[in-house]
Amino acid sequence: MSKFNIATVQSVHHWTDTLFSFTCSRDPGLRFNNGEFTMVGLDVEGRPLARAYSIVSPNYEEHLEFFSIKVQDGPLTSRLQHLKVGDEVLIGKKPTGTLLVDNLLPGKTLWLLSTGTGLAPFMSIIRDPDIYERFERVILTHTCRHKGELAYMDYIKHDLPGHEYLGDVIKDKLTYYPTVTREEFENEGRITDLIASGKLFSDLDTAPFSPEHDRVMLCGSTAMLRDTVALLKPAGLVEGKNSTPGHYVIERAFVD
Ligand SMILES: Cc1cc2nc3c(=O)[nH]c(=O)nc-3n(C[C@H](O)[C@H](O)[C@H](O)COP(=O)(O)OP(=O)(O)OC[C@H]3O[C@@H](n4cnc5c(N)ncnc54)[C@H](O)[C@@H]3O)c2cc1C
Repeated sequence: MSKFNIATVQSVHHWTDTLFSFTCSRDPGLRFNNGEFTMVGLDVEGRPLARAYSIVSPNYEEHLEFFSIKVQDGPLTSRLQHLKVGDEVLIGKKPTGTLLVDNLLPGKTLWLLSTGTGLAPFMSIIRDPDIYERFERVILTHTCRHKGELAYMDYIKHDLPGHEYLGDVIKDKLTYYPTVTREEFENEGRITDLIASGKLFSDLDTAPFSPEHDRVMLCGSTAMLRDTVALLKPAGLVEGKNSTPGHYVIERAFVD
């Protein structure tokens, strides 16, 4: 039996020369937890060519959404970036991943720290009603080089607070903190520098990370994960795994 369902592309949105998103149909049998990834691919000369992709859309939506890099010589994305409405894509039948709220101990504040396409899994998590039951405050950070790469910024700032079911709770509990490293912007700098200097906490009117209150999910480059973990560990936070919940969980946004 194939490892993939065939889905039909429903919409495509290009954010920049290097980033785009698309939505596609969802097989009714596909189940996943918000924050998970699955394989996404194309049929190339009769064989599947697939890569891991975090699912942007929350698990109660009828469609699926993905947020993708365009690597000009990348085997998959050199092709995937040309998707059009009506095209077929392959969607893996077995979503998985570590960015699950069940891998975290109970806490007060949930931090979702992302760089680049590492935002993708957090787009489903911030639309999961369960996290607002479990946490008093949810803080999403997204760091990119340029403002134009802050995909979904308008949606998070302007559309989500008007969400039919979650709008009120999101207005109360979700804080969005976009930062840019190579241009002037309302928040500037690498997330690790903002944590180390304490600026992140003063800007958001919170205390520095503590194992008592804070739970953290990380999704970014290998360097971002390494540098952020090097700040979390000395603060006393311990990594959670599928069998043992902890204070933070990590997922690579891509393999270098
Ligand atoms: C758990 C997991 C989840 C992932 N989720 C996503 C996602 O939601 N969206 C997404 O675009 N990619 C995601 N990726 C990366 C994805 O699997 C592919 O690497 C990407 O689609 C490029 O595929 P490719 O065949 O064109 O090039 P590849 O041969 O896979 O990659 C070529 C090179 O491009 C760079 N690269 C690849 N992906 C990225 C990226 N996302 N950001 C910056 N540089 C990159 C790396 O240097 C890599 O070595 C994820 C990877 C993992 C492991």
